[in-house]
Amino acid sequence: MKKGRSNRTIVHSAIDVKTWLSRVPSVDEVRPGQCPRCAAASRPVGQGLQIWGHGLRDRQSRGPLEPLGDPVEVTLRVRRYVCRPCGAVIAVVPLGVVAGRLFAAMAIGLALTLFGVERLPLGKVRQRVSPWRRVGATAHGSWLAVRRWVRAIRGGRLFAGVRLSPERFTARQVAERAAMTLAALAPPALAGEVVTERVFAGAARAR
Ligand SMILES: [Zn+2]
Repeated sequence: MKKGRSNRTIVHSAIDVKTWLSRVPSVDEVRPGQCPRCAAASRPVGQGLQIWGHGLRDRQSRGPLEPLGDPVEVTLRVRRYVCRPCGAVIAVVPLGVVAGRLFAAMAIGLALTLFGVERLPLGKVRQRVSPWRRVGATAHGSWLAVRRWVRAIRGGRLFAGVRLSPERFTARQVAERAAMTLAALAPPALAGEVVTERVFAGAARAR
């Protein structure tokens, strides 16, 4: 859960992106139990409903849907609610949607793994993670998005559960630490899987 600048807030449902794409959950299925802003209960005993459905809003989500999948851009139909007591507008999103970012957490985690653990050149990382095939000559062989994510992690603004890196860490070292932290969040059943599989599953659960 993360608060925005205005009265908008995001709540993560337990539904993953692929499932959400195949069927948008109903208003009742993903209605928050309480308001993330004022903590009002959705259905207080003996009172009427306090958190009302507020329609659907389209939101882009970028990156592969599986670790080895082709990168895509999909449109998610996000459920919105309004809190009657405080007026907050609450967006309920699938697992792995990151507030303020177009790439899904799984895509960012995969990029950090390919860059920090597998040590691939940024151009190769981009090919695996970015849905945009054609890049300008100046962007060839680089990918600013990864640099931005590493900066955000250094500043504690992305994947807040990742331990802060010493300043002397290179970008690849910061990415590696973040990837291993995400991998550790994967369900124990995936313990024998390759690191990209574990990071993908862990990133969906990261906050
Ligand atoms: Zn509220």
